[in-house]
Amino acid sequence: MREEIEQLDAKHILPTYKRQPGVFVRGKGARIWDSEGKEYLDFLAGIAVDALGHCHPAMVAAMHEQAQTLIHTSNHLLTEPQVRLAEKLCQITGMDRVFFANDGTTAVECALKIAKKHGLSKCPDGHYEFVSLHRSFHGRTLGALAATAQEKYQKSFRPLIPGFRYVTANNELELHAAMNKKTAAVIVEPIQGEGGLTTMSPEYLCSIRELCDTNDALMIVDEVQTGMGRTGFWLAIHRTKIQPDLVVLAKALGSGFPIGACLTRGRTNLILESGEHGSTFGGSALACATAFSVLNTIEGEGLLQNAQERGYELAQGLLAIGDPIIEVRGHGLMRGAILNRPIARDIVRACLDRGLIINATDETTLRFVPPLIISSDEVQECLRVLRAVMGELG
Ligand code: PLP
Repeated sequence: MREEIEQLDAKHILPTYKRQPGVFVRGKGARIWDSEGKEYLDFLAGIAVDALGHCHPAMVAAMHEQAQTLIHTSNHLLTEPQVRLAEKLCQITGMDRVFFANDGTTAVECALKIAKKHGLSKCPDGHYEFVSLHRSFHGRTLGALAATAQEKYQKSFRPLIPGFRYVTANNELELHAAMNKKTAAVIVEPIQGEGGLTTMSPEYLCSIRELCDTNDALMIVDEVQTGMGRTGFWLAIHRTKIQPDLVVLAKALGSGFPIGACLTRGRTNLILESGEHGSTFGGSALACATAFSVLNTIEGEGLLQNAQERGYELAQGLLAIGDPIIEVRGHGLMRGAILNRPIARDIVRACLDRGLIINATDETTLRFVPPLIISSDEVQECLRVLRAVMGELG
């Protein structure tokens, strides 16, 4: 079976992904199995997506019930699951309103369109500017790609949408120099998931807020990867008292079911008018009922606290390994181990052989984003495999 599926992949799927070997067939909790029956401990969780682990019974039951009742109506016809989820999201984030998208990128696009309208109201000649950060990741559609300040993603698609200025994370001088009355918005990830797990300091985030206020610009916080409990808070920005103008969510929101959301507050609530944005699938009854059950389960099972406690254990354990790990970044269950030499991909491969799934965001950064249901024993198991692998690689 494995060979046939891998051949079909090579023949019929666009060659945009570098995959790990194997064909995966089943998951439960923090474990996943391949077609040959090999078991893996999953510390990647669909890239910070499977918050409840694989096939959590509460989520499966909610999906099953909603699928038997009503799956999709389009946004021409209102459904209860959509507004119930919106109400819940506003309660837990402190935001006011929601636009439902299908994933992180389409949620980012919504935020950028709101910011563009705001920019055009300030600069009707179209010379407004956006500020984003070097090593950021906001998605790969043309708008989101212009915000994603990484050469490897942008290089084949120039010219990009104009108006973006890029600044170095945590560098206040650059931020001050980049912002002025033409700035429409700043978009920032509290922790750069694809950019070396660089973690924004609270002071830097406060400076963004202040400079946005001074310059009548919008602060967009991209919580696609950090949001919905991953750092031990519903939003990573909740570590501070900052209130963003726009928040973008996806990944863990559906714990594997595709859904994204752009949340607005105060002055951003009514920028988009009827007909100015939309989505066929966004906010379907099935997606929203599923996400609602995910949020209730995160709450009901105390997973924010688990993310804080297990995340601390993981970080301490990684630091204790020492060479080649020289630094541990991130918060909660979003951690990066920085290596003193470029062996991250070798480590990922050796861990996979030993039944542990992690990934490398570059040659010197290992990323750990396990499900929020991860147990202390599983954290220790991950650390044991890592110690063995690092011992072997020398
Ligand atoms: N924003 C951030 C911070 C992300 O990490 C990602 C994906 O990794 C995206 C946006 C794009 O999300 P998606 O891949 O769901 O479109």
